[in-house]
Formats: sequence, structure tokens, C-alpha cells
Amino acid sequence: MKQCTQCGKCCINYSEGGLTASQEDLAFWEAERPDIFQYVNNNELWFDPNTGQQLNLCPFLIKSEDNIYSCGIYHDRPEDCRFYPVTIDQMFLDECEMLEPDDLNNTKQAQIKLDILMEDSRPPCA
Ligand code: SF4
Ligand code: SF4
Repeated sequence: MKQCTQCGKCCINYSEGGLTASQEDLAFWEAERPDIFQYVNNNELWFDPNTGQQLNLCPFLIKSEDNIYSCGIYHDRPEDCRFYPVTIDQMFLDECEMLEPDDLNNTKQAQIKLDILMEDSRPPCA
């Protein structure tokens, strides 16, 4: 299991209506981060504040010249983003670059490694 390579695939895959925020995220953004909250519509992410249309890419995704992606609201990002990746199956489907060949040979052990890597961001996967 590697550290995140910041390939951006997860942000791109889930940007278009695939992300949810917790009630705490929404309440915090509404009170303290109107720059984020303006992209919320009926508690759903992410919508153009001017047209009300669903965006197909997260407005906070930043791409560097050397194709490294980063999050413009990293410390205040939605719960889904803080928790990702959750399972090895999900990472496989998403072609997450943290996965190494050994992880697919022993997915149980890989899940333990992932949960340790993610322990500051989310509870362990049951
Ligand atoms: S909020 Fe940040 S982590 Fe979440 S999709 Fe957007 S750029 Fe990615
Ligand atoms: S898909 Fe995996 S390696 Fe790529 S940015 Fe997301 S967590 Fe990192």
C-alpha cells in the first residue's frame, strides 16, 4: 500500500454528484465558509451558484503543471473526501494508485494497512 500519489482520479470520478457531506460539514460551511456553501444545493454537492446546474468537476480541485492534483479546501473538505479510500474493492474499481500488486493478493491485510494509513481521517472499515 503506497501513500496517495495525488493522481486526482478519486476527485474526478466522484465530483459529478458522487459526493456527500455530513450535516456537520454543511452547518460549518453555512456559518463559516460561504465560499464553499455557495456550491451546495439542497444539501447536495457541487452546483454552479449562478445557474444551479450540477458541476461535472469539483470547483476546489487544483491541477499543477506536472499533473499533480490537490484540494483547495483540504482542511474543510466534505466527509466523503476525508474518508476516502474506505475499501480495497472501491480502490480497485477506482484504479486508485495507492494499491500495489501485493494488496490484491491479500486484500484482508491490505485493508488493515489502509485503515492504519487513514486512522487520522476516519474510523477503521468494519
Ligand atoms: S473537495 Fe477536495 S478532496 Fe473533495 S473532490 Fe473536491 S478537490 Fe477532491
Ligand atoms: S485515486 Fe488514490 S492515489 Fe489517486 S488521488 Fe485518489 S486516493 Fe490518491
